[in-house]
Amino acid sequence: MSALLDVQNLSVSFRQDGKDSLAVKGVSFAVNRGETVALVGESGSGKSVSALSTVSLLPDSATVKGSITYDGQQMVGADKARLQKVRGNDISFIFQEPMTSLNPLHTLERQLRESIELHQGLRGDAVRDRIIELLHKVGIRDPETRLGAYPHQLSGGQRQRVMIAMALANGPDLLIADEPTTALDVTIQAQILELLAELKEAEGMSLLFITHDLGIVRRFADRVCVMKDGEIVETGPTAEIFDAPQHPYTQMLLGAEP
Ligand code: ADP
Ligand code: MG
Repeated sequence: MSALLDVQNLSVSFRQDGKDSLAVKGVSFAVNRGETVALVGESGSGKSVSALSTVSLLPDSATVKGSITYDGQQMVGADKARLQKVRGNDISFIFQEPMTSLNPLHTLERQLRESIELHQGLRGDAVRDRIIELLHKVGIRDPETRLGAYPHQLSGGQRQRVMIAMALANGPDLLIADEPTTALDVTIQAQILELLAELKEAEGMSLLFITHDLGIVRRFADRVCVMKDGEIVETGPTAEIFDAPQHPYTQMLLGAEP
């Protein structure tokens, strides 16, 4: 299988108050085409920093070393044009808190319109049709009637569905979901996970799924990477990680499962 995203020996340090602190320490993992890979670890273990490194979304205080290739192209130190191409056409992100990513002053139609016009060059009625199609895909009922809604008029689960719709607008090959269900109630979490698993198949995407909760990836990840203190301490097929965890930290995470 060919790796769509291949991260090799990634290290990231942040310069703060004249000192460097290492947040990610020589991490290697790959996401093959069509695969769902889960990056799991507790808060502060370096999951988001690793993910943001893929398309250079870290602040200037960060120094990134190692290799990250997307579809064979080097992303570490890539020029602006290549980064913009990959961000615009190939990799999409969704984050934990949709309220902070949606503009509270813009209707759904406007937020989605901007994503679509930017990425797909559609205009006029074609944009509206595409918006309705996207909202439909992510399970917003009667999308025609919701176009004028503002983010605060939606539930948390609906807002996350809208964020997913925006992430799909550019037809990404790789979706990076960084704790997409952490802010949601348990029943809504399950619905969003279900939706992501369905969309991944329907859209033929690969998925890098980031979570602090090892339990939730069991049903839908193909492989799991367990992160601790900036390192991957264990990686393997999901069934192996759950049935025969080798590292004491993974055993601890599983032991802590209800
Ligand atoms: P996780 O996503 O696993 O919760 P992060 O990847 O966000 O963890 O953070 C890993 C480490 O890097 C943490 O110690 C965090 O404080 C540090 N870190 C993250 N972003 C920055 C930043 N912009 N400046 C300085 N340190 C940061
Ligand atoms: Mg994080």
